[in-house]
Amino acid sequence: MRTRLRVLLALLTLSVFTHAQTPAQPAPKMTPKSLTPAQVHQSAIVIDTHADTPQRFVDEHFDLADPLGNGNLNLDSIHKGNLGAEFFSIWVDPVANQGRFAGRTFDLIDSVKQQVAKHHDQIVFVTSPEGIEQAHREHKFAALMGIEGGHSIEDSIPLLRQYYALGVRYMTLTWSNSNNWADSSGDIDNASIPHTKEGLTEFGKDVVYEMNRLGMMIDISHVSDRTFYRTLVITRAPVIASHSSARALCDHPRNMTDDMLRAVANSGGPNSKGGVVDVNFYSGFISQAYRDADKAQQPEIDKAVAELKAKYKAEGKEAPHAEIDKLQRSFADRIPRPPLSMLIDHIDHIAKVAGIDHVGLGSDFDGVSGQLPEGLNSPADLPKITEALMARGYSAEDCRKILGGNLLRVFREVEAVSKELQAENRPRITDKQPFDKPQK
Ligand SMILES: [Zn+2]
Repeated sequence: MRTRLRVLLALLTLSVFTHAQTPAQPAPKMTPKSLTPAQVHQSAIVIDTHADTPQRFVDEHFDLADPLGNGNLNLDSIHKGNLGAEFFSIWVDPVANQGRFAGRTFDLIDSVKQQVAKHHDQIVFVTSPEGIEQAHREHKFAALMGIEGGHSIEDSIPLLRQYYALGVRYMTLTWSNSNNWADSSGDIDNASIPHTKEGLTEFGKDVVYEMNRLGMMIDISHVSDRTFYRTLVITRAPVIASHSSARALCDHPRNMTDDMLRAVANSGGPNSKGGVVDVNFYSGFISQAYRDADKAQQPEIDKAVAELKAKYKAEGKEAPHAEIDKLQRSFADRIPRPPLSMLIDHIDHIAKVAGIDHVGLGSDFDGVSGQLPEGLNSPADLPKITEALMARGYSAEDCRKILGGNLLRVFREVEAVSKELQAENRPRITDKQPFDKPQK
């Protein structure tokens, strides 16, 4: 034993010696800097905060194991792009589901759960930041849910609480339609639609408070600017924009001004670390040229959609969503797709204006009729974002924040605020005066 050890030691010394003789070569160190973009992407917890796939589950009987078809998201692409967690959007078309918002909400929630049950070897249903981390450790895909549009609660706080109980972890206060308590950027300029005076009614403030208390993230994508600022004044937890981009780069009311980006970064109570803006990939939100071209052909699209609807109505039927989508897609496909670099410009802009801790990803996959930047068709292409960010000098740590770390931080804080509020047993706003949030 001893002799063998000595021989080994001698060999080792010799090898060190010969090494010292060779010309000076910097020893390869495994510092974060030396990681390749692929390694960084592979090691990150990648979280996307918005995909409309549940519409496909319900209306097209789409299964996540199916090929992509016309869509953007399936199990294969999730694995290829190391997507760790998706917030599936529970979006209820307010026109098609008049009178049954809650019913449709339940159908969509159920469809997500059915997919999880069917693919339990690969997907896990998750409702917390720890759950996302646990899924990552087990190499499983975490499925979460966010409601897109406050009309889903049918003006009922008990219904809001039941959605939370079913696992919904964020709610976009409005979709493109204003509801009875919050205004939308989608119809704020339409005088024939009733709007609130101050962005939120007293009941709307109650909703915000109850979401804070429950630990449901407040999503301000889609809301009107006034509703945005009103919400930020009263929320005690930081907010998210689940799928919005930068208005300075593409002037769309769905995007956020620099002032709004900074306001999200400063949202929450006095000790808050602030919220996160998850960049929407939709071509019409990231490219001004695309938006202008899209706007120019809008009258023609509206006419074609109206004709399609009339055709179905004549047969006593409702035009199927998939048909309308196909028609809109045929128009949109005429406009050239913007380059991926334009999407990176938005991430870069938000990181510079709001800070590196306040930007994330909110793809809007399956919600934009395939109108996505060049080369970005599904989660399988997400590593390209990491690659492009690193090419612009973003560190591995910065990338991990953008890819999901920032959202995890906000999610944790929302839960912490919820615990504080539940301990306070504070009366509802409509029972008392609006609460005075300490201003920063
Ligand atoms: Zn949306």
